[in-house]
Amino acid sequence: MKIPSIQFPTDFASIWQRIESVDPYKYAKTRNFVWGSVSYLSPYISRGVISVEDVRKVVLSKVDSPWEIEKFLQELAWREYWQRIWLDKGDAIFTSLRNEQERIRKDISGSVIPSAVNQLETGISALDIGINHLQNEGYMHNHLRMYLASLWTNVGGYDWKDGAKWMHYHLLDGDLASNWLSWQWVCGTNSSKLYYCNQENINKYCGTKDEGTILDSSYEELSMSPLKTPNLMKDFDLLEFPETPNFRGVEVIRNREELTDLGSENILLYHWYHLDPRWMAEEVGTRIFLIEPSYFKKFPVSDVVWNFVLALAQEIPNIRIVYCDFQEFKSCFPASIFITREHPIVSHWEAQRSPRPWMSLQATAAGSFFNFWKKASREIMVKE
Ligand SMILES: Cc1cc2nc3c(=O)[nH]c(=O)nc-3n(C[C@H](O)[C@H](O)[C@H](O)COP(=O)(O)OP(=O)(O)OC[C@H]3O[C@@H](n4cnc5c(N)ncnc54)[C@H](O)[C@@H]3O)c2cc1C
Repeated sequence: MKIPSIQFPTDFASIWQRIESVDPYKYAKTRNFVWGSVSYLSPYISRGVISVEDVRKVVLSKVDSPWEIEKFLQELAWREYWQRIWLDKGDAIFTSLRNEQERIRKDISGSVIPSAVNQLETGISALDIGINHLQNEGYMHNHLRMYLASLWTNVGGYDWKDGAKWMHYHLLDGDLASNWLSWQWVCGTNSSKLYYCNQENINKYCGTKDEGTILDSSYEELSMSPLKTPNLMKDFDLLEFPETPNFRGVEVIRNREELTDLGSENILLYHWYHLDPRWMAEEVGTRIFLIEPSYFKKFPVSDVVWNFVLALAQEIPNIRIVYCDFQEFKSCFPASIFITREHPIVSHWEAQRSPRPWMSLQATAAGSFFNFWKKASREIMVKE
């Protein structure tokens, strides 16, 4: 078994070093293997510390032609594609976009998790180890995410929305668009076919030799209708998340009295998807990382994720962390100008917005990824 354990440093120099060390040639050859040379950049891209455009520029500066590293640039573009869909469809991405979920058990109500997943007892060693890493370290290789989502939905018949919420809870790179839309891609609610994997495929990409598992079947058997949930996947546990974050060891402002001391003419607002320490570095103003309780009630995250994100925020000079919804926050500063970076989760903030750094400004997310790529590649596959 070769699933590596990955560390995610939070200081900006180490993060930039990680971009510099991307090997796009090795990436193209090995990325599907769990030990492959993937970049491990997603937690920083998701949190807005760096952008896909930063990564594109650095990687392009090291090659003669963009076409030599098309695969890597195309993967970066997937991220931008999902973001464009989110902007286009809004909250509809949290519901089945095109089709109802085809393979779903009718005997379950409420939010649940298959017990075999919850207790790391799927019997598929790569998945059991992968789930352990996900819960303790906050990262899972793309292929393992796909295997798990397929087992949860297409084989087990559990609701994709519960799976998305649970996986997002644990991921350092948790991103509402990439996560919810990838789950929809796997279970066919926003794609034309359902994704299946079997044990042979898992053994190949994970270096395991498992036999006789619930996925040790042909694709025809796994996709047989009607859905027949394997015995090992029949039991389930209630899916529950703690509602309030644990801010242990971090100074967080929560009440109005403390807030009013912070006022200034300009208030520069950082958010869950925008923690770039380089942003408006010359601008004078109070820098606030505003964490809205109402958002985390809907989309909770684990302590591992909280610790990571709060550590990233410490890289922003003079940042203050405030735990309060925007309207209440705003009411404390009637004379201030709020400035932030554009993002769907802050569309209700009455603030000036600077744009996100996109790789493609022209391409929209109408149609498939490959339609998007056709247009976007005209800007992405260009070496300045
Ligand atoms: C069920 C499921 C849930 C997912 N949830 C998330 C999520 O919450 N947040 C998230 O960032 N990614 C998510 N992904 C996409 C993908 O798994 C991760 O972006 C990738 O594994 C991150 O590791 P990396 O940085 O080493 O990626 P690399 O393979 O090195 O890719 C480089 C960068 O390209 C982008 N990228 C690569 N593949 C994808 C993809 N399929 N979709 C979108 N962007 C991609 C990422 O920004 C990534 O950092 C999900 C995929 C699946 C199948």
